[in-house]
Amino acid sequence: MTAQHDPSAAAGSVDAEPVVPDTMTAALLQEFGHLDVARVPTPSPGPGEVLCRVQACGICGTDLKIVRGDYAGTWPPSLPFVIGHEWSGVVSALGPGTERSGLRVGDRIVAENHTGCSACAMCRAGRYNLCERVREPGFKLYGHTAPGALAEYAVRPAVALHKIPEGVDPAAAALVNQGALTVHAARRVSLTAGATVAVFGPGLLGLLMLQVARASGAATTVVVGRGSRLQTATELGASHVVDYEHEGPVDGVRAATGGRGVDAVFDCSGNPDVLAQAVAATRRGGSVAVLGLAGGARAEIPVDALALDELNLFGVRSSPNAYPAMLALLASGAVRTEPLTADRFMLEDVHAAFGALAARTSIRPIVLPTK
Ligand SMILES: [Zn+2]
Ligand SMILES: [Zn+2]
Repeated sequence: MTAQHDPSAAAGSVDAEPVVPDTMTAALLQEFGHLDVARVPTPSPGPGEVLCRVQACGICGTDLKIVRGDYAGTWPPSLPFVIGHEWSGVVSALGPGTERSGLRVGDRIVAENHTGCSACAMCRAGRYNLCERVREPGFKLYGHTAPGALAEYAVRPAVALHKIPEGVDPAAAALVNQGALTVHAARRVSLTAGATVAVFGPGLLGLLMLQVARASGAATTVVVGRGSRLQTATELGASHVVDYEHEGPVDGVRAATGGRGVDAVFDCSGNPDVLAQAVAATRRGGSVAVLGLAGGARAEIPVDALALDELNLFGVRSSPNAYPAMLALLASGAVRTEPLTADRFMLEDVHAAFGALAARTSIRPIVLPTK
């Protein structure tokens, strides 16, 4: 069969997957505070599972905290452990019972990090990001409680995988995990055409949120932050930027909307102090969506404004049913990733990748496991 007549070629497959080796290179967390680049046995897919060859894996702030031991005993439950949950790859082998998955060896894929239990009330309502059985034994949150993808290979349930459209490169696809979170956020606040939006925190999440908000119809987009990341925000389409080192964030957002305030604020900052600013920057009847985590910190909210202005306050967790939309936005060019994936590291240099993230010199270090 020629490539032209092979339907899998049109779906973004690669030819001739290499033979799977018995051992693989992985960034192994053997003791907290340090990753070892080590050889470990290549995992094999069980029933309903698929073995994937990793092509790109981003590392994020949560990974830094896991390595440091901030969630020791939970994420991960024990050592040694392989982290990594923002990645893309290629199907290398299909486990038993995956015949009807629609997947084939060679398919390029991204993976959700859990699929829920499919039985609890939240899962049955399609809100599997809120699965009520996450703390029960056997629940797998990949990269957190089950092996991640900062390695040459990773095993995932077939139902967690989504095929990558043609034209979306592996590093861009590694951003789908975070991008899908912003798609979920846009859906939570029901963004409509012509909306006015503010994004607080122009890290990877905020810069994806900006673009997904625009793709969802936002006409005015104000990004609040500081330094060079605001230039990236402008490059990626922000209509206004507010540098909080030079201007009050609430005044800046209100000035961009004729004093009225925005329809929706997306807080991607992870800074608990931002929540009060977000409330103050929102128009009457508008919405505030919280995407960033604050490490257990508390925030003050002006209660009267919340009640008297009938503001909507949304928590946003994970990305239920949002991977296909994010992949489509990448394929269409509506979301651009090249300024966000420029920092690449080989798996052997994983320490440099973590160093760049910790020092904030990289928005998102992308680790490439294969030479
Ligand atoms: Zn992450
Ligand atoms: Zn469930």
